[in-house]
Amino acid sequence: MRMVDLIEKKRDGLELSKEEIDFIIEGYTAGSIPDYQMSAFAMAVYFSGMNDIESTNLAIAMLNSGDAMDLSMIDGVKVDKHSTGGVGDKVSLVLAPMVASLGVKFAKMSGRGLGHTGGTLDKLESIPNFNIFLSYDEFVAQVNKIGLAIVGQTGNLTPADKKLYALRDVTATVNSIPLIASSIMSKKLASGSNAICLDVKVGSGAFMKDIESATKLARLMVEIGKNAGRSMTAILTDMDEPLGCAVGNNLEVIEAINTLKGNGPKDLTDICLEIGSYLVLDAKVANSLEEAKNMLKQQISNGEALNKLVELVKEQNGDYTYLLDTDKFPKAKEIVPVVAKKSGYVTYINALEIGLGSMLLGGGRETMADIIDPSVGIILNKKIDQFVNEGEVLAYVYSNGKNTNTVVEKVLNAFEIGNELHNKQLILKVIR
Ligand code: URA
Repeated sequence: MRMVDLIEKKRDGLELSKEEIDFIIEGYTAGSIPDYQMSAFAMAVYFSGMNDIESTNLAIAMLNSGDAMDLSMIDGVKVDKHSTGGVGDKVSLVLAPMVASLGVKFAKMSGRGLGHTGGTLDKLESIPNFNIFLSYDEFVAQVNKIGLAIVGQTGNLTPADKKLYALRDVTATVNSIPLIASSIMSKKLASGSNAICLDVKVGSGAFMKDIESATKLARLMVEIGKNAGRSMTAILTDMDEPLGCAVGNNLEVIEAINTLKGNGPKDLTDICLEIGSYLVLDAKVANSLEEAKNMLKQQISNGEALNKLVELVKEQNGDYTYLLDTDKFPKAKEIVPVVAKKSGYVTYINALEIGLGSMLLGGGRETMADIIDPSVGIILNKKIDQFVNEGEVLAYVYSNGKNTNTVVEKVLNAFEIGNELHNKQLILKVIR
C-alpha cells in the first residue's frame, strides 16, 4: 500500500477499507508516514467526508495506536460522560457522585483546562491536597471500594489522536465532523467504560454552532460507540450562556456542592439529572428513565450524593472539611460588581467571553505551563430570560488584581439585554 494512493482515493470521495485506515494510522504513529502526507489526508477527509464505518474504523485504529484502560477488574457496568467543552461546566463534579451513590461505577479520567474552557482536574485541585495521580491499581481498587474515582490520564492512550489533533490544529482541518467524532470517540473507547453519555454543546461559543451540525456530530459519535459495543447516548445542550452561575475553579466547586445539596442553579441541576438518568438506566439500576431521574433526585434530598463526593475527596487525600464548610475556600481579594447600563431581559451571555474573562483573571491557562489561581472567576447574578433594571448587578468579578478592569468590561459586553424573552430549551435533543 502507498499513502499517496490512499490520499488520492479519499480526495476523489471513495471509501477506505479498514486495512487502509489501519495502514494510515499505524504508519503515522510509527513515523513512516510524514506530517505533509497526513495533512493532505486530513484535508481530503475535510472535503470528502467519511461514512459511519470509515469513521468507526478510524476511531478504532487510533484507539489501537496506544494503551487502553482495562476496567474488567471492576464489577458491573462502568459509566462515563464527556462534554464537547462548556464554560462553567462542572457537571462531572455533580454527576459522578450522584450516579455513584446509586452503586453505579464511575471510573473517570478527566482533563485540565486550556483557553476559555475549564478542566475538572483543575477544579478538584482547588480542594487542598486532592490527588489526581492514582496508579492503575489504585484507580481500580478505589472504584471497586467506593464506586468512584476521578483521575488524570494514565498510560499512553491514543497517541495517534494526539499527533493528528496537533496537526489538524495547524492545517485548518479541526472542523470536520468525522475527524472530531473519531478523535473524541477514540479517547472515550480507550477509557474503557461500557455506557457513555456525551454532552454536545450547541451555540456560538461551541464547536458546533447550529443544531444541524451538532446533530450530525452526535449521531456519528453514537454510531461509533455502538459499533464498538458500548451503550451510547448523546444530548445536545444549548450553550448560549455559561452553565450555572459560577465560572472559576473554587467558585465552581462551591456551586457543585450547593447543587448536590439541592440548592444549585436550575440549568446545571437539569443537565446532571438528564445525563445521570441515561447512565443509571444503561447500568440497569432503574427500569425507566423516569424511575432513574426520581432515584437521582432522592440521592440529592437524602444527602447521599454529597456524601459520595466527600468520600471521593477523602479517598484521594483531599481536605474534605472544605466541602462541609465552603467558607474555608480562599476568597479573591476584590469582588467587583458589573452593573447593567439599561433595563430589559437578558437575551444572551457570550460564554466564550466569560470563559476568556476567567482565564485573564488567572483562573485558566493560556498555555499548558500557566499556573492557575483557584479563587478568581466570575459569578453571574443574572441569566438568560431574567429581567434586569438599569444599575442592577449582572455579575461579580472575583479578582486578585490581574486584569480586573479589562475583565469587568468584557463581562459587561458579554451580556445582551433586549425586550424579548428567549424561552429556549436547555436540552435540545437526545440521540440514542
Ligand atoms: N475534541 C477532541 O478531542 N478532538 C477533536 O477533534 C475536537 C475536539
